[in-house]
Amino acid sequence: MKNLYLVSLGCPKTRVDTEVMWGLLHQKGWTLTPDPEAADAIVVSTCAFLQSSIEESIDTILECADYKAGRCKRLVVAGCLPSRFQDDMENLKASLPEVDAFLTTRQIDGILAAIEPHVYPDPDGDFYLARQTAERQSFAYLKVSEGCNRRCAFCTIPLIRGPQISRPIHSLVQEARQLAESGARELVLVAQELTGYGSDLGIKDGLLRLLDELEPIDGIDWIRLMYTYPWNFTEPLIERLGQGKILPYVDIPLQHVSQHILDDMRRHVTQEAQDRLLRRLRQIPGMILRTSLIAGYPGETEADVDELVQWLREIRFDRVGVFEYSDEPGTPAGDRPDQIPLELRTQRRDRLMAAQQEIHAQKMAELIGQHLTVLVDGYSPEHELVQQGRYYGQAPEVDGQVYLSYESCDRDTADIGEFVHVEIVEANEYDLVGNVLD
Ligand code: SF4
Repeated sequence: MKNLYLVSLGCPKTRVDTEVMWGLLHQKGWTLTPDPEAADAIVVSTCAFLQSSIEESIDTILECADYKAGRCKRLVVAGCLPSRFQDDMENLKASLPEVDAFLTTRQIDGILAAIEPHVYPDPDGDFYLARQTAERQSFAYLKVSEGCNRRCAFCTIPLIRGPQISRPIHSLVQEARQLAESGARELVLVAQELTGYGSDLGIKDGLLRLLDELEPIDGIDWIRLMYTYPWNFTEPLIERLGQGKILPYVDIPLQHVSQHILDDMRRHVTQEAQDRLLRRLRQIPGMILRTSLIAGYPGETEADVDELVQWLREIRFDRVGVFEYSDEPGTPAGDRPDQIPLELRTQRRDRLMAAQQEIHAQKMAELIGQHLTVLVDGYSPEHELVQQGRYYGQAPEVDGQVYLSYESCDRDTADIGEFVHVEIVEANEYDLVGNVLD
């Protein structure tokens, strides 16, 4: 028995990479263990987006390194940390001597050689198709491309993951079929910039063409678009939202509204264009809009924050994530001298969150009494006798849940991946309670 202990930090894109590495090892007889002491090898899949994520990654690696005094013979670090430091790899190796191998985000297919250097890997194939999810899930992320061709001034992603490389449509369709066979009912399409999918392959309207191929897959009922960019949001794409299996839900991280900040961020988008797009998206019945914002960007004034608050009240996004700006070495924004003091960044974030919370609370209250279709995710990690699911307006892992009550029907449970109809009877800050009706 070859036991593997696997840690995955960071975002859904890293999660997909971790599942691919796990699938490649599983094919070679490895078994997952939840106990690092029982592991023959440990893989840490890292995040390095911000300084805080680098620190978390390093702490986790050092914790795992302790197990090398026992049974564990190989410690492999994969993902964004080695990618971010690929030009300084000798230093990274020297500062973490316990690590046996580092794999960048573009080297994850080297996991077998990293864990078992004496075993010959299989000849090149579409390694994404080896992907294994650890347990049955109602949803699955589909990572359609790697990297990003944009150069937003604050962002480390192009440094870490390089330019955009889209995966071919046929490979994504095959992976989506496998995910459907493993029980996923919802596909969550992820990329750094989803709306740019296919441009590097020379495919015109790449995302639309991909949706054309994914939509007919049996077993998939919901398709959700995450991490879109305001450019490339064409009218034909907008018209697909809310049609067929494509959910009327858009995650569009806009970062800011003030024009000089958008320019400084090198977003290459005007305030008017953003607003025009949002107004158009709002015309789609039932549209749920999610965005994320940065508070305390260099050069941001109190007037810019006032403008953001006002804009939040006008647009009334359904979901908003606000992040304090983090000055990252190697980015144009990180090198600017006019950094905002840390406490002020926190204050501005709190102000924006408070403004959004009011709007969010009103929106949640409006759901009481509504009848909604809910995809059952399983038992709640917090309340083990309570099942939970999500209506289309709740993306997995970033939005809230619907807790299910079976008081109004003659059953007391549902399967993972089943759709149930509920009446919403309660709403709190992030979550809902729904009485199952059938
Ligand atoms: S589009 Fe997104 S991932 Fe790409 S550089 Fe801008 S913020 Fe980073």
